[in-house]
Amino acid sequence: MSDKGVLTVISGFSGAGKGTVVKQLLDKYDYVLSISATTRSPREGEQDGREYFFKTKEEFERMIAEHQLIEYARYVGNYYGTPKEYVVQQLEQGKDVILEIEMQGALHVREILPEANLIFLTPPAVDVLENRLRGRGTETEEVIRNRMARAKEECSYMEQYDYIVVNDDLDTCVNEVHGIITSEHLKMRRRLEFVTNIREDLQGLMKGE
Ligand code: 5GP
Repeated sequence: MSDKGVLTVISGFSGAGKGTVVKQLLDKYDYVLSISATTRSPREGEQDGREYFFKTKEEFERMIAEHQLIEYARYVGNYYGTPKEYVVQQLEQGKDVILEIEMQGALHVREILPEANLIFLTPPAVDVLENRLRGRGTETEEVIRNRMARAKEECSYMEQYDYIVVNDDLDTCVNEVHGIITSEHLKMRRRLEFVTNIREDLQGLMKGE
């Protein structure tokens, strides 16, 4: 049986509630979250190495040049990227890893790791998006407008994801995402060794008849 972890990529419009959903998944289950590197400034309450590894543009560009990132993207004026070493190590150890990244990066992960699970999280209606963004109270009007514009762009590519999950009721949404990851473990292609063993056992039994 394949004991490598499942890699799940969660994206969604800014304001879709990804952060809350991911936090619940980590609290309730044994998932590992990849911590990204970014050049954006920390928001109030954010800590280096917890929400993000906060980097200067030069440091980030060095990480790119040294191939330390699985993927990276520019999002509303800043770089964001997934450090490779930690993710690969965790998957090898059988841990299920979650990446919470934007669409460009997610589609890049799909290219290099086709077995990754891509989940798109959306609020039930678009007016919720703007309200959630404003409700955060941490973004300027310009950033809010840029993030809404980005959401408009991103909706053209939503079909490239494997799953779309609506974040209306938080518990339902968290259960649905957990269900997707659980069923990924049961995929035939992950269990070929198990299938081979059953086949061999069966052949052994028939020989004995
Ligand atoms: P925020 O600034 O709100 O923390 O994040 C902005 C966007 O960047 C979100 O859509 C978030 O999912 C995305 N993001 C965070 N980390 C990464 C990363 O490592 N790679 C990419 N491509 N996007 C990321």
